Amino acid sequence: MSQQEDRLKTLIGHAKEYGFVFPSSEIYDGLSATYDYGPYGVELKNNIRQYWWAAMVRLNEEIVGIDSAIFMHPTTWKASGHVDAFNDPLIDNKDSKKRYRADVLLEDHIAKYEQKIAKEVEKGRRKFGEAFDEAQFLATNPNVKRSQDRIDAVEARMKEALDANDLAAVRQLILDEGITCPVSGTANWTEVRQFNLMFATELGSVSGESSTIYLRPETAQGIFVNFLNVQKSARMKLPFGIAQTGKAFRNEIVARQFIFRMREFEQLEMQYFVKPGTEMEWYARWKEKRMAWHRALGLPVESYRFHDHIKLAHYANAACDIEFQFPMGFKELEGIHSRTDFDLANHERFSGKKLQFFDPETNESYVPYVVETSIGLDRMFLAILSAAHQVEELEDGSTREVLRIPAPLAPVKLAVLPLVKKDGLPEKAREIIDGLKLDHNCQYDEKDSIGRRYRRQDAIGTPYCITVDHETLKDGTVTIRDRDTMAQERVAIAELPRIVSEKVHMHRLLRQL
Ligand code: ATP
Repeated sequence: MSQQEDRLKTLIGHAKEYGFVFPSSEIYDGLSATYDYGPYGVELKNNIRQYWWAAMVRLNEEIVGIDSAIFMHPTTWKASGHVDAFNDPLIDNKDSKKRYRADVLLEDHIAKYEQKIAKEVEKGRRKFGEAFDEAQFLATNPNVKRSQDRIDAVEARMKEALDANDLAAVRQLILDEGITCPVSGTANWTEVRQFNLMFATELGSVSGESSTIYLRPETAQGIFVNFLNVQKSARMKLPFGIAQTGKAFRNEIVARQFIFRMREFEQLEMQYFVKPGTEMEWYARWKEKRMAWHRALGLPVESYRFHDHIKLAHYANAACDIEFQFPMGFKELEGIHSRTDFDLANHERFSGKKLQFFDPETNESYVPYVVETSIGLDRMFLAILSAAHQVEELEDGSTREVLRIPAPLAPVKLAVLPLVKKDGLPEKAREIIDGLKLDHNCQYDEKDSIGRRYRRQDAIGTPYCITVDHETLKDGTVTIRDRDTMAQERVAIAELPRIVSEKVHMHRLLRQL
C-alpha cells in the first residue's frame, strides 16, 4: 500500500473509531460513496458551516442568505445546461473492470510529472544549499524542463480534445501517454463515453417524461431562480451576493476517496451579482477573500494553491480552484468561477420572465454577471481532519494521537474531569460545566485514569481539559491543560470563561478577515 493510501486509511479508521464519520448504512455493508457524520463529525461540520456563513453573510452587508428546495422545476436544469452538458467522460479498463474518469486519469498522470519536478527541486536545494535559486533552477535544469514540456504537451492536447468534445482524441492521449490501470496495470481501455451525473426521480404518482425531476447537482440554481425575489424583498443593489448551504447530488463515476468525492454532499455557495464588465475585478477580489478565509484557520500555508482550469465549464469565462494537499495529493477544495450572465440569461429565455436589475445610476436594465465561490463542506472537513491528525512521540517513549483542529472549529471545546469520582468532585465539575455550557460545547468525563481521559480528548481535538481536584474545593482553582502543548496551569474557576473564549471563540477567526 502506498504511503498516501496508508495515510487515508488511518484517517478513515480514526474518523470511524472516534465518532466523526461512518460508512452509510454500515449494517448492510454500506452504500458506496455515501457517509454519515457521527457525534463529533456533526459538530465539526456545523462549525465549518457557521464559520463560512459568518464570514460571508454576517461580515458582508451586501450578502444575504437563502435556503431553497432541493427539488426544482425540471426546466431549471435544461436552462442551466445540466441536462445536456453535465457529463463526465468515463473509460473502463477491460481487465480489471474498473471504471475511471478519463480527465482524472490524465490529471493524475500530469501530477506524476509535477512530483518529478518537486523531487528535482528538493535535490537541487540539498546540493546548492543557501545559494539555491528556485526560479532559476526551474528555468534551466534539463530534467525539470523535460517534465514541464511533457506537462504542457499533455495539457494542450487534453484541452483541445475536451473543448471539442472529441472523446476518441481523449482516449488516444491516454494510450499515447502509456497510462495504465492502477489495478490491472494494463492499457486495455474501452472507448471513452459521456455520462450524465444527475440523479433523476419521479414526481408524484404519474410516471413518464413530464414528471421526471432531478436531485439538484449544485445549490447555485436555487439562487439564480430566486434572484429577483431576493433583490426586491431585501432591497439589494448591485453588486450584491446571495449565499446558500445545502445538499447536492451527483452520480459520480468514481467515488473511492472517502468523503472527498461522494454522491450526496454539501455545498457552501455564494453567487455575487455584478455589473457586466466588472466581473474580472470581482473575480480577483473573491479569489483573495476566499484564500484569506482559509489562511485564517492556520493550516500550513504550503497546503494551499490556486489552479486555473484547463477546460472551462460550459458557463464560465474564467475559473480557478483552490487546491489543498489532501492525503491523495493536491486536489480541488473550492471553485471560484466567473459565470458571466449565462445562468440568468438562460433562465430568462426558458421562463419568459425578466431577470434584470434596474440600475438607477445609468437608468438602464440589464442581466447582471455572476462571480461564484463554491466550496464542498465535506472536502473542507477532510482538509481539516487530514491537516489536524498527528501521531506524536512523547518524552516518556509513548505516543499520542491528537487532532489539532483549529480551536474555534473543534467539536468539543473543553472537557471537565474530576480527578476522582467522589468527595464532591463530580458535583463541582458539573457546576463548572453549567457555568460554561451556554457558550461552549463541554464534555464531562470521569471514567478511567486522568491520562487516558486526556488521550481521549486529544483524539477528538478538544482544545482544553480542566481537571477538578481536592484543592479546587478549598481554593476555587483548577488545572487547565492545553491540547497542543500539553502544558498545565493552575487557574481560578472565575478566569475560565475568559481563558477559554480567547482561544475557542469564532471571533478569533473572523477578526482576521
Ligand atoms: P471535481 O472536478 O472534483 O469533480 P467540480 O469541479 O465538479 O469537482 P464544482 O462543480 O466546482 O466541483 O463544485 C464545487 C465544490 O463542490 C468543489 O470544489 C468540491 O469541494 C465540492 N464537490 C463537488 N463534487 C463533490 C463530490 N462528489 N463530493 C464532495 N464534494 C464535492
